[in-house]
Amino acid sequence: MKSDIKPLCDKHLLKMEAVGVSAKMGGSDVWTWPAFRCPTAGCDRLFDSGGYRTFSEGPVDPDSSNFIGCEDGAMFIERVEEDNLIWRCSKVGCQRSRTTDLAFCPRSGV
Ligand SMILES: [Zn+2]
Ligand SMILES: [Zn+2]
Repeated sequence: MKSDIKPLCDKHLLKMEAVGVSAKMGGSDVWTWPAFRCPTAGCDRLFDSGGYRTFSEGPVDPDSSNFIGCEDGAMFIERVEEDNLIWRCSKVGCQRSRTTDLAFCPRSGV
């Protein structure tokens, strides 16, 4: 994943903060990887190389994931332009982008 990306939360469209996320992978193994969290209090959206999802300590709820991919990289919301979301690939060396309408964004409170 690129280190200089600034993904927007897919619910709030606010700039997410870089964090390290760790999770237990069974036994005493703990994995930490770079990810981004929404700064909104109570928002548990997370973006990492697997796309957007809701952070949880346990198994990821597949319904919470919001993935637009290009080849083997996940795309993040780079900016909002009028009624469109501009997505950008998070993979190093890939500059592909995509446009979706705002309706693609999961509404908060759902
Ligand atoms: Zn959020
Ligand atoms: Zn790509």
